[in-house]
Amino acid sequence: MAVNILAFGPNGSGKGTQGAIVKDKYGSAHIESGAIFREHIKGGTELGKKAKEFIERGDLVPDEITIPMVLETLAKYKEQGWLLDGFPRSKAQAEALDAALKEAGMKLDYVLEIELDREIAKERIMGRRLCANDNNHPNHIAFDAIKPVEKDGKLVCRVCGGELSARADDQDESAIGKRHDIYYDTETGTMAAVNYFKAAGGSKVISVDGSVAIKEVTDAIVKQLD
Ligand code: AMP
Repeated sequence: MAVNILAFGPNGSGKGTQGAIVKDKYGSAHIESGAIFREHIKGGTELGKKAKEFIERGDLVPDEITIPMVLETLAKYKEQGWLLDGFPRSKAQAEALDAALKEAGMKLDYVLEIELDREIAKERIMGRRLCANDNNHPNHIAFDAIKPVEKDGKLVCRVCGGELSARADDQDESAIGKRHDIYYDTETGTMAAVNYFKAAGGSKVISVDGSVAIKEVTDAIVKQLD
């Protein structure tokens, strides 16, 4: 049966890494709004061109672009189930998602929240690296468990040897600050979306401490999954 999950956590909390493990357990599709945008930018699509400037500044891409893009993607995975990462990022997006799920007859099984202090999250963001071959290959220069490996004097993906790059918005302190302002905002931002779905009921809420080792975070999550 399709299992649907929302994954929340500030940028740098390990949400992508943990999300990949959870979606594998259920065979759900991993839907990352940020990754969809990056694909569009890479492919030079109209949507990518519109989204690029917002992403580089660390601002949210406007809802009229983001909401339909995400909802269309979810609809494609209705049978398989999905883990949604990076959306909703605001109270308005949470309300739009809730309404769309009800209309489509999709239920929400889990709300996963990884809690992490803002300063720690910032340090973590600056050290992460992206694998050119697979978005789900975690690499981070500051964590032994997922440290990239060296090949011909260059750091490459520890999983597949693929080329690594740092996201421009991960190296820009002002962009990081903006992304975190949005995340930790309990009035209209992402924390408001988290609280919206916690209060809505109907799904199991799993909140874990993201400051401990990756494996410990995984264990804390997995033991709460049915
Ligand atoms: P992420 O990979 O989740 O850090 O997303 C990278 C960037 O994509 C964000 O800083 C935003 O500019 C944009 N983005 C991703 N998800 C959303 C969303 N739900 N709403 C608006 N913009 C988004």
